Amino acid sequence: MTQPALDFVIAALEKIRETNDRLPRASRIVLARLQTSNPVAASLPATSKSDEGGWEAHASLTEQRLQPGRNKAELLEPIRERVCACTKCAHLACSRTQTVFGVGNPDADLMFIGEAPGVDEDQQGEPFVGRAGQLLTRILKAMNFTREDVYIANILKCRPDTPPGTFGNRVPTPTEMQTCRPYLVEQIDVIQPKVLVALGAVAVEGLLGMRGTMRDLRGRWHAYNGIPLMITYHPAYLLRNQAPSEKRKVWEDMLQVLERLEQPITEKQRNYFV
Ligand code: URA
Repeated sequence: MTQPALDFVIAALEKIRETNDRLPRASRIVLARLQTSNPVAASLPATSKSDEGGWEAHASLTEQRLQPGRNKAELLEPIRERVCACTKCAHLACSRTQTVFGVGNPDADLMFIGEAPGVDEDQQGEPFVGRAGQLLTRILKAMNFTREDVYIANILKCRPDTPPGTFGNRVPTPTEMQTCRPYLVEQIDVIQPKVLVALGAVAVEGLLGMRGTMRDLRGRWHAYNGIPLMITYHPAYLLRNQAPSEKRKVWEDMLQVLERLEQPITEKQRNYFV
């Protein structure tokens, strides 16, 4: 944590101490870390055991910022472990083969967000490895990226369950998305990409809590928590609708992403899919 950020945290804690009946509280782990960074924090009481449940989600975010020596890959690990053990959606915890956390470069400037693992992702434990995923990989290649250059994650970390004996995938419910969203928020918080891309309307709903048609949403800049967000069609849509005009729309969105990232764009790339 940088000194100005630390000063800001300490000033905020002191303000709480001055203006509230109850002293500001911190979990034991956060406290230990603050104490090693600045003795002022030594005056904060640790949360009691019974308080800790309520602190967990918030403290985990705070703790990440209080570990200056840790790199992003290390910071993602405890989140991955919590996802792996998650049973918040009991029905999905029962039906999944495994959780699908995310893949790619934790230091990526560009992060893609899909909706949920499908059958292939559930089997392999990696997002976007099925047919839609292969198309995403091709789009990345056309952008001059590999899967290792970017980070890819979903709103849901479990495959939405389907009735036994049926085929295909199911769209996540709003409740499932709300339940799982905090993990994605933490991933974004650690990775801090320069640009986010939401793939399809379900990803948009999961991330922004906003419903809309892709016609209205795609092709222009939105923002998530101050990070520029491009919305484009899900690759599965392009598999269903093979019209060159639709591929071109996605490609135009990706050109905007490349421009935002200040990546060089060749003439060949500009004319792609035309
Ligand atoms: N579709 C998604 O939204 N995510 C995946 O991981 C695979 C397919």
